[in-house]
Amino acid sequence: MGTTRNNTDDSRLVAELKAARRIMVFTGAGVSTASGIPDFRGPHGVWTRRRPVYYDEFLTSEAARVDYWNYKLESWEIYSHALPNPVHHAIVALEGAGKINSVVTQNVDGLHRRAGTSLGVLVELHGTDRLVKCVRCAATSEPGPHFEAFKATMSPPRCSCGGPLKPATISFGQSLCATDLERAADAATHADLVLALGSTLSVSPAASFPLMAAERGTPYIIINDGATDHDGHACVTLRLHGDVTAIVPPAVEAALALRQGTRN
Ligand SMILES: [Zn+2]
Repeated sequence: MGTTRNNTDDSRLVAELKAARRIMVFTGAGVSTASGIPDFRGPHGVWTRRRPVYYDEFLTSEAARVDYWNYKLESWEIYSHALPNPVHHAIVALEGAGKINSVVTQNVDGLHRRAGTSLGVLVELHGTDRLVKCVRCAATSEPGPHFEAFKATMSPPRCSCGGPLKPATISFGQSLCATDLERAADAATHADLVLALGSTLSVSPAASFPLMAAERGTPYIIINDGATDHDGHACVTLRLHGDVTAIVPPAVEAALALRQGTRN
């Protein structure tokens, strides 16, 4: 399928953004591409080269912990230099205009918080690589020193309580955080517009949240370069094919400028 984007679709996006007051923004790997972050779980991702380390292996095997920290060292070196891009900033501008109910993300790169999305609206469904967490006492700490120590010793870091430390992302075989799932479901209930950006909408349960809102009759806009699992779904209001970095920032700018130019 070729591009189906046209000026009418772009105007429709601006109009929906302008009218909305409680937008649920749902983001996937495509939002971080322009920041130089590869899609680790995608077809060319790290798992084509490495065997995934499951959570129970991490808990029980020192060798698995070494493997895991080795893999995370690779992504840390990318994440620690990555900067938010115009899509992250556009979402912050929508929040500044009082239009955001939530930013629900599948990304673990921490770029939404780095851009300035407030933690009160941010739901990092798959956790974050910007923090390290103790699997025993749940204490969190900055990753930098742990990665430096691991690089020097190749010995996986431990908490002062003795428990193994792990980047605060959800691993294969690890449950999502119940509080985050509740916050995302609550956001889906109260949103008046859902914007799914840069996600193939194929990972469950994450992709169920935009659909949950759409099935309540909330306008649902999907912007993604490639196909998504929600394409052709009856509750999709608008589907834009293309690079989120090219589409979202100008639309947000137009919506917010229009808003300032009118008395509302
Ligand atoms: Zn601990």
